[in-house]
This record gives sequence, structure tokens and C-alpha cells, in this order.
Amino acid sequence: MNNQFQHICEQGFEQLSVSMLITDLNGKITYVNSVFQELTGTSINEVLGSHTNDHFNCPITLEEPWEGECQLRHKNHGISTQWVVITPIYDDEGMFLETAIFICPNPGDIDTLTKLPNRRSFEQQLQQALSDSKLQDQVFAVLFLDLDRFKFVNDTLGHSSGDSLLLQVTERIKRSIRSQDIIARTGGDEFVCLLRNINSEKDAENIAKQIITSFNHPFHLKETEIHITTSIGISLYPFDGDDLETLISNADSAMYRAKRKGKNQIEKAEVEINAGAFERLLIENNLRMALSREEFYLVYQPQLDLNSNQVNTFEALIRWNHPDLGIIPPSEFIPIAEETGLITPIGDWVIQTACEKIKEWEQAGYPAIKVAVNLSAQQFLQKGMVDKLTDTLIRTNVDPSLLELEITENMVMHDVESAVSTLHTLRELGVRISIDDFGTGYSSLNYLRNFPVDHLKIDRSFINDIETDPSSKALTNAIATLAHDLDLKVIVEGVETLNQLNLLRESSCDMVQGYYFSKPLTSDLVTSFMNYVNQEETYSFT
Ligand code: C2E
Ligand code: MG
Ligand code: MG
Repeated sequence: MNNQFQHICEQGFEQLSVSMLITDLNGKITYVNSVFQELTGTSINEVLGSHTNDHFNCPITLEEPWEGECQLRHKNHGISTQWVVITPIYDDEGMFLETAIFICPNPGDIDTLTKLPNRRSFEQQLQQALSDSKLQDQVFAVLFLDLDRFKFVNDTLGHSSGDSLLLQVTERIKRSIRSQDIIARTGGDEFVCLLRNINSEKDAENIAKQIITSFNHPFHLKETEIHITTSIGISLYPFDGDDLETLISNADSAMYRAKRKGKNQIEKAEVEINAGAFERLLIENNLRMALSREEFYLVYQPQLDLNSNQVNTFEALIRWNHPDLGIIPPSEFIPIAEETGLITPIGDWVIQTACEKIKEWEQAGYPAIKVAVNLSAQQFLQKGMVDKLTDTLIRTNVDPSLLELEITENMVMHDVESAVSTLHTLRELGVRISIDDFGTGYSSLNYLRNFPVDHLKIDRSFINDIETDPSSKALTNAIATLAHDLDLKVIVEGVETLNQLNLLRESSCDMVQGYYFSKPLTSDLVTSFMNYVNQEETYSFT
């Protein structure tokens, strides 16, 4: 190679993230890049002029292209297994000149979508970190990440959007961690990070916080923008385990705890109670029996109409009373019911029970009470849903206009056309439709224009800081105004204080629901509630 050209090439080789050597015809090393020196702990002078056999424990045939696993000797007498690619270089006449040797990640260790290390490779690196750290008394952390609601994006927007989201997520995580940290993809929407050379738990937490923050702005998928979050569990060597399985499983359990606490947060391993996976299995097994054992019941939360100061709608919310585990909130078992498909029979039971209650209250002589029922995506998207609903309404002899169905925007985004047609059929049947948790998903009023719906329920997160954050108030008002243009009534969820209620009275919102006014009530309390307000002649609250 001419000298100047060689110099340019070597500058390029220095930019590579893989190790590279060049040998002459006899296997003597004539060039080495700094990645190789770092990897083996050798200096340039120790390598230049040495023979490939001094470094590799496998016969390397310099004149033939080859790739495969080789044992590489390190300066500290250690040996590692590496993926080696041999590329002989010939001149224009076909004369063999020299050989380039690359040490690359094993293709079997790479996740094909994100090009990150996969589980196998991560476990190797973790094993390496364990043996190094044991010798050198070092602390390191494992972060276990799982995207919140990823399955939903994949199911509703399709796999290509799911893939695109995973790539964007990979970039954001990479930008949040330090250059020496390792990130791997270990499953569909599961990532793990290995953070070496940290001084304390705080260091690991700070990096996890960076990752959470990096999800703050929306991701762009085709023509939609979506907000997605991640839950993170942290385990620390040596405190939360001193072997691979324990460290990973403790970080996994911590991640699962973060999910149950409401997602989008960080939890640290709790070694004493590594119960996450166990609890989950327990719930899953018990959930299968809960229906036949009649362990579910509904509670009903009233909605106050701000114009008339009356209550005529209650939202039905499911509860699970397990004989040993106590009362389990829906946030803990609905996701498991969705994953296991049990949501369909459970959802059917909810509709059936709500209709029976409507009838019961009607027959007891109370003025028409509407009940709103939450539908899960699978329920809404299942074939024959409308027929089943019609059947239930006929069997229970309930006026369809007394039943409201709460769906979320996400459910309609997958196949807008077929969703709109389902919604029209439901409308013709006479049931009302609400969009629940508005502001947490696509939040596209533009799309709503096409949906035949009646109510928009603004998510609790808006009201949370309405007293302190002027933009929340402005946003709530803006949503209400736009919704009114679309002929939708606006319900604000999660009103907890008088101050919030008063602020909302100044806005153009139509109804409120929340602890300030009433917590969800058992059906007995609903009748007491109605008896009480009946004495006042109307369901009136001022
Ligand atoms: P959601 O439909 O948005 O229901 C409102 C949730 O907010 C309820 O939680 C309610 O108890 C709670 N809440 C109401 N007012 C306040 C307040 O002032 N402050 C606070 N902090 N919270 C308030 P819950 O009952 O735990 O239900 C959680 C979610 O579980 C529901 O959110 C709904 O998405 C789902 N869910 C509940 N019942 C069913 C059901 O029968 N089927 C399906 N598929 N999902 C259900
Ligand atoms: Mg709801
Ligand atoms: Mg809601």
C-alpha cells in the first residue's frame, strides 16, 4: 500500500468500533487499531511485529476468507471467545498482499431489528462483569426495561409501526446511557442495560431517570404521534444478587412492581420479597376461577352534571374480592386478563351485571339511571360484539340509551374504518359512546371528528395540576371548546378538591367525576345515595 493511502486508511480504521489488525504474508502484525489494544490490554508496541499465533488460539489461514469463533488471549492471561473475520487482500493482478483481521460481534449475538446485543450476548457480558467485579470489588447495576402499552401499539397500529417504535426507543435509550454502558434487547419490548463502574445506587437511578425523561416527547409513527412510557427495575451487584439469574430476576420483579404502581417509573430490587413473578402467577391462576366463584363485583361512581347539578350517570368499575388476597384493583388484574384472553368473559359479565342493575333500579322506582361500562380493546374488537350486546340488552330488557360504553382512542386507531362502522351500529342500537382517558393516547381531536361518539372524558392527569399549572387549565378549556364544536359533552375525571371543582365550573366542561364529589359506591350505597337525593326531589347538588 502506498504510504499516504495507508495513512488515510489507518485513520479510518481508528474510527471503527471493532478491533482490527493487519498482517503481512507471514502473519506478522503490521497494524493494530486502538480498539484491539483496549480489548486485550496490550500496547501498540507489544502488538506490532508479533505473530497472530501470539494472540489467537486457533489456526488462522491468512489467504482465505473465513469467519468464526476464536479464542483471544488477553494481557492478564485471560482468554475470551471472539467472532473473528479474516479478509485477505489481493492486488489487481490477484497477488496476495496482506490480511485484515476483524474482531466483531458474533452475528448470533445480535438482535436483527435493533442491531443491539441479544439476550445470549448480554448474559455473556454480564457473566464477564460478574467475574471482573468479584476480583476488583466493583459495583455494577442491571436495569430491566419494559415499554408500557407496547403490545397495544403493535396490535392497533401494526407490526411495522411497532418496529419503528422499537428503533426510536433504542436510539433514545442509547442517548440516555453512558458510552461504556451496554444495552441489549432481550425480548419483544424488553431491554436490559449493564451499567459498570458506578459508585452508588444513585448513579444507576440517575441513568434510569434519564431514560424515563427521554420518553417525554412523542414518537412519530407514520402519520400519528404517540406518547409511550417505560417502566424500569434496577438491581445492583453485589447487594441484590451475586449471580446472573438472581440479578436479572430481581431487576425484572422490580420492573413489574413499577408497572403495578402505575407504570412510567423506576423501582429498585427488594431482595427479601422477590415475589413479583410469583404474585403474577398467583393472580393469573386465580383469575381463571374468579368468575365461577363469583368473586367479582361492580362499584359505581356518580358523575355530576355541572349545568343541572344533577346525577344521572354512574360509571361501573370492576373489583375483585379474593378470599386470601383481599380486594384487588383493576389496574392489577385487567392487564393480566387482557394478556390471557380472560378479559372477554369478564367483560361480558360486567355488561350483563350492569344491565341487571339498571333494570333492578328501574323496577325499584328510581328515575332513569344511566350506567357507563369500560370496554377493553379485545372486547371492542372481537367479532360479534354488537350481536352479543344486543342479545344482553334484549334479555335484560334494558333501554339501550341507559347504557354507555367507554372506549379509548387507541382502540379505534388500528382500523379506523371498521371501528367507525362498529360505532355507527352501536349508535343505531341506541347505546352511548364515551372516549375515556382522553389526553393520554393519540389525543387527536381531528380523528374524533370522524367518530360517532357522545362524550369525551378528559384524563385525570389534566386535573392533577390544574391549580398550579395555567397550561393545564388552558388545555382543559381548549379541549372542551373543540369538543363542543364536535357536539361532544365533556366529562372531567379525577376531581379531588373543591378548588378544582370551582375552576371547572368556570370552564365549559359539562360533567365531573371524582373523589371530591363521591368515591365509587357499592350498589347498596348507590340506592342509599338515590334515596337520599330523592328526598330532595331531584338528584341535586349545589
Ligand atoms: P377509568 O375508566 O379511567 O376509571 C377511573 C378510575 O379513576 C377509577 O379507578 C376510579 O376509581 C378512579 N378515580 C375516580 N375519581 C378519582 C379521583 O378523584 N382521584 C383519583 N386518584 N382516582 C379517581 P379504578 O376503579 O381503579 O379503575 C382503573 C381503570 O381500570 C379504569 O380507568 C378502567 O380503565 C379500568 N377498569 C375498571 N373497571 C373495568 C371494567 O369493568 N372493564 C375494563 N375493561 N376495564 C375496567
Ligand atoms: Mg372509564
Ligand atoms: Mg378514565
